Amino acid sequence: MQTPHEAPRIVVVGSMVLDLTVRVPHFPRRGETMFCSGFEMFAGGKGFNQAVTARRCGASVVMVGTVGNDPFGDLFLQILERETIDARFVSRQASIGTSLGIPLIDPSGENSIIGIPQANTRLSPADVEPARAEIGAGQVLLLQLEVPLEASLHGAEIARLGGAIVILNPAPAHLPLASLLRPGLDGRPLIDWLIPNEIEVEMLASMPAGGIDEAFSRSREAGEAAVRQAGRTLLARGLRRGVIVTLGARGAMIVTAESQERVPGFRVTPVDPTGAGDAFCGAFAVALAEGRPHAEAVRFANAAGAVSVTRPGAEPSLPRRDEVEALLAAGAGA
Ligand code: ADP
Repeated sequence: MQTPHEAPRIVVVGSMVLDLTVRVPHFPRRGETMFCSGFEMFAGGKGFNQAVTARRCGASVVMVGTVGNDPFGDLFLQILERETIDARFVSRQASIGTSLGIPLIDPSGENSIIGIPQANTRLSPADVEPARAEIGAGQVLLLQLEVPLEASLHGAEIARLGGAIVILNPAPAHLPLASLLRPGLDGRPLIDWLIPNEIEVEMLASMPAGGIDEAFSRSREAGEAAVRQAGRTLLARGLRRGVIVTLGARGAMIVTAESQERVPGFRVTPVDPTGAGDAFCGAFAVALAEGRPHAEAVRFANAAGAVSVTRPGAEPSLPRRDEVEALLAAGAGA
């Protein structure tokens, strides 16, 4: 448990992506030269978004990742500094650029996204190693799947030695469960909490796509039973604590060996769901790092996710602690 004056320490090993968002009159046809009225640039990537949320919610945050040795990389370092996130362990790639995304958004709000993963694909255990002392001294290590798994799991091994709680948000879901939940060097599970969304839990538990939503459309009980079953399947494959399945407006389901419990979401008017999962994970990490029980941490995270859907975009929608606490105090649980 932290003393009241000491900010909890969280390390994020993860991705950074610069989004160059273009507003297009329509999606371009082959050979077309198109002129657009608007262009905006946003820092993002799941690692960055979760780090920013954790910082805005009151933790002291160390970012471990990599960018190119290009002006986009310089910009990322400036943004991390502006967000007061420790960027000493953000390495620079000599031969490949910063990861970029180019979302094209048409007037109806539909989008097509061009992704250029570049630097994120090169993060290695050697990039994580210099942060050994910080990972060991932190309360929580937060991981996702937009950087190579080997780098993330190297961080998890270090965290295990130091006693930090390891959270893995398996997003985007593209790897087999066995590789994510492989045991550590001591033969025991490496990950404490796995936090998939509905789509990810269906993929990881080999359930039919859309099965959970379909079960909820029959009844709340049927939906919850489907989520519990998926959660138990993942739990049985080797986690230290449990699975938390995020369920959009429905909140989240906690599945541990001891209990299975849905924590309802907060009623808000949604504007844009982008970034909700990242807000949830970043805020959950902060609450756990403060020593709160996991069910209370999920309620805090539900409030953070709910705040994020009330604003457009990813980074601009990531919640601050005062906003999360205001929603918690209003107690608008669904
Ligand atoms: P992802 O963004 O990964 O798809 P979810 O859609 O499950 O993840 O959202 C993550 C969390 O954000 C949810 O568990 C919930 O707490 C919150 N959330 C998402 N959508 C809403 C909504 N419409 N109303 C209230 N809370 C929401």
